[in-house]
Amino acid sequence: MLKFYNTLTRTKEDFKPLNGNTVTMYSCGPTVYNYAHIGNLRTYIFMDLIRRTLRFEGYKIKGVMNITDVGHLMADSDDGEDKMAVASREQNKTPWEIAEQYTKVFFEDLDKLNISKPEIIAKATEHIPEMIGYVQALEAGGVSYETSDGIYFDISKFPRYGCLSRANLEDQLAGARVEVNDEKRHPADFALWKKADPLHIMQWDSPWGKGYPGWHIECSAMSRKYLGECFDIHSGGVDHIPIHHENEIAQNEVLSGKQSVRFWMHGEFMLVNNGKMSKSLGNTYTIADLEKKGYSPLDFRFFCLNTHYRKKLNFTFEGLDAAKTSRERLLQSLARHKAAASGTDKAIIEKLRDDFRRAIEDDINVPLALGVLFTAVKEPVSKDIYDLALEFDKVFGLSLDKVALPEKKEESEDIPEEIAALVKARADAKARKDYALADEIRAEIAKKGYNVLDTRDGVKVTPVK
Ligand code: AMP
Ligand code: ZN
Repeated sequence: MLKFYNTLTRTKEDFKPLNGNTVTMYSCGPTVYNYAHIGNLRTYIFMDLIRRTLRFEGYKIKGVMNITDVGHLMADSDDGEDKMAVASREQNKTPWEIAEQYTKVFFEDLDKLNISKPEIIAKATEHIPEMIGYVQALEAGGVSYETSDGIYFDISKFPRYGCLSRANLEDQLAGARVEVNDEKRHPADFALWKKADPLHIMQWDSPWGKGYPGWHIECSAMSRKYLGECFDIHSGGVDHIPIHHENEIAQNEVLSGKQSVRFWMHGEFMLVNNGKMSKSLGNTYTIADLEKKGYSPLDFRFFCLNTHYRKKLNFTFEGLDAAKTSRERLLQSLARHKAAASGTDKAIIEKLRDDFRRAIEDDINVPLALGVLFTAVKEPVSKDIYDLALEFDKVFGLSLDKVALPEKKEESEDIPEEIAALVKARADAKARKDYALADEIRAEIAKKGYNVLDTRDGVKVTPVK
């Protein structure tokens, strides 16, 4: 029986969709003001693992992911400027250009990481009327109030406020820093709609004058539009538990009185060198950064798969190197199984299949499931083992169907491993027709003292004399 850990109840619960065989799922998507970093991408790999597990279990999925292209302020609450406006000013582009640029790269990253795209992608800016309608309904229900800068949700109207994070609001109040907005009745009241001054770059007409939506109302309005008042799963990163998801619950449930989301599922954070990832520390790597260093995006996926989604994952290059080596060994041994003519005893295959299923049904225990794969490949070479690995790969998403015996090395025998990895990354980029990246990698190789030449007989790598 499939079990998922539900943040709402803090327990693992049996999972069954609310309706028939189709799972309704909403995932908080990216704020497209910058490149997604590897921490963000860990959360989308987690989303993908939920989706793949559901499919493995025979369910269909109606999944929605939003693209936040307005309304996410620098602080997750109501402080600071809109992230899109900041990027727009810094890069001298319109917010629409910024959104288009980073949304495109985001989906390319998902592709490279074998993350299957949710069925419905919903851009916030394309759902402004739905958001206004939602705020009007809350207003009509008497759970909001107007201040000089916006329409706010009155959390005193929702006694269960805090049910997800189990935060003690009184403690929060006592420790709260001096409120910037003294028109708010409670520091945790949050903006549903913000009034815009004439210089504000993104604004729409509304019953409250020109303005823009609050970040939380986006997810409530879009999930309701596509999935209805009650749906099965809502996913996101753990940082969203205390504010964003708490506020979604309040908006969703204050008028309907129904539980809007059956399972709240949260992915733990990725750290870098045991600390926070931040631009100022220069440690927010992107997938392109890893590729430039000679790693395949699937090395990163494999690295993530080795830690359960509810555990913090510390990113280091030593860790990524270990993942890369381990993935290469796995591919090599699978290539031998693929080429084998012999088979494996049915009972052994059944036992491995059972162990695998039990692991993923236990709250998506992918590290344990990978252990089953490693046990399987230790069996004597057999085509059955390769076929079984392909079955498992429906959840892992490691492109195990593409294994081939390692190519013969060209004149690369005496070049360092680091350069060989870069040459491979360049070939991968070319295969994807990402010529810009391929050129960047070639330049990187040149910087390290090697020439890459594409000849009719293949790639030749020679030290610069
Ligand atoms: P954002 O684009 O800021 O809205 O974030 C996109 C997603 O990435 C959200 O679901 C966040 O919870 C998640 N996220 C942000 N930082 C990290 C991190 N260091 N590790 C894992 N997930 C993260
Ligand atoms: Zn959201």
